[in-house]
Amino acid sequence: MDSYWFILVGLTAGVGTFFTLWQGRRAQKAQEQLRKCQNELSELRSARHTALAEEQAKQQTVFNSMVEGLLILDEDGRVQFANPTLGQLFSLNGEIRGRTLLEALRLHELQGVAERATREGRVTGFELVLPGNSGRVLQINAASLREPGRTHAGSVLVFHDLTRLKQLENLRKDFVANVSHELRTPLSLIKGYVETLLDGAKDDPAIAVRFLQTIEKHTDRLTFLIEDLLSISSLESGQVVLNLQHIDLHDECEQAISDLTARASDREVTIANEVDPVLRVRADGDRLQQVLFNLIDNAIKYGRVGGTVRLGARPLNASTIEVWVMDDGPGIPGDAIERVFERFYRVDRARSREQGGTGLGLSIVKHIIQVHGGDVRLVSEPGKGATFYFTLPVGAEPQVNI
Ligand code: ADP
Repeated sequence: MDSYWFILVGLTAGVGTFFTLWQGRRAQKAQEQLRKCQNELSELRSARHTALAEEQAKQQTVFNSMVEGLLILDEDGRVQFANPTLGQLFSLNGEIRGRTLLEALRLHELQGVAERATREGRVTGFELVLPGNSGRVLQINAASLREPGRTHAGSVLVFHDLTRLKQLENLRKDFVANVSHELRTPLSLIKGYVETLLDGAKDDPAIAVRFLQTIEKHTDRLTFLIEDLLSISSLESGQVVLNLQHIDLHDECEQAISDLTARASDREVTIANEVDPVLRVRADGDRLQQVLFNLIDNAIKYGRVGGTVRLGARPLNASTIEVWVMDDGPGIPGDAIERVFERFYRVDRARSREQGGTGLGLSIVKHIIQVHGGDVRLVSEPGKGATFYFTLPVGAEPQVNI
């Protein structure tokens, strides 16, 4: 009986130990599995974190490289994000994050645009002229950032700088108005003289000749104007193909002077070519002739009757030559110095018209020199003459054949 008892106790103890061991093993396995899951979870978390950081970095690069200003407002209307372009557009110095739109940019109109965007969902093409005298014009597009299930919404505002476009548009309008005016003036004069001739003036030969000469003068003016307009348009198109050559500067000046001999003698003007014959420039010969012709012609037209026009040049450095055309006429007032190279700008409009000027000569000179990589400048004092300077690249020495 005792032995059965022992066997039973032994068996029970064995089963108990087995069960404990089995349970311990299960718990260990479960723990291993839990650890594995935790590792996987943390790997997933860190992958998600990296992906999110990469996404944010990408977004930041896009926002930072935008030519438009970008502003994101949260649902309380406070600045959540502003890109660097926005800072430049509004000349912002400090941090604006967390501020209201009004505190950040100090523009009531903008506050209204943001509110409209939140209310209506979208605002496109709102134009804003910035206060002050910067003349800056911005176009603002705004949209609401409403999240599903939420009543309040943030908004995003995009700012396009239209200033340059507006300036170009104004320049174009001025140009068209000026061209129309310049064309209309000689045309209406021609029409007037023709009508007077037809009304009977043709029967008096002396008057008829005088009128016909005037008509010829105005048709010449129209021709010059159209030629100058074509020159300007081809130069401004940026598609000018220069036939660059190594040119003897003294000879080139001599050529321009000989083309203007008749005009110079009409006003008893002496022209002195003081350009050193060793100087050579690299330029398009025809274009250089146009530059010299316009400058010498102006010096004759606007200089002193019986005066002297001097042409000179000097090397500025190893690669640049400076050329000048100097007269001893009445000169140009200080406030006009910056403007004479503008299209249609004249110091004395009546005088220019009387001389057959188109108001485009100096603008053409500036364009031609600029396409050669040079620049132009004017030095003048009223009563002390005017000197127009321009630079060109140095030309190579002529090849000597032995
Ligand atoms: P325009 O066809 O009227 O001569 P330009 O562009 O050649 O046009 O010159 C612009 C204006 O600059 C002229 O109308 C004139 O008033 C002034 N100007 C140009 N050259 C001289 C000069 N050498 N002396 C004085 N005024 C000048």
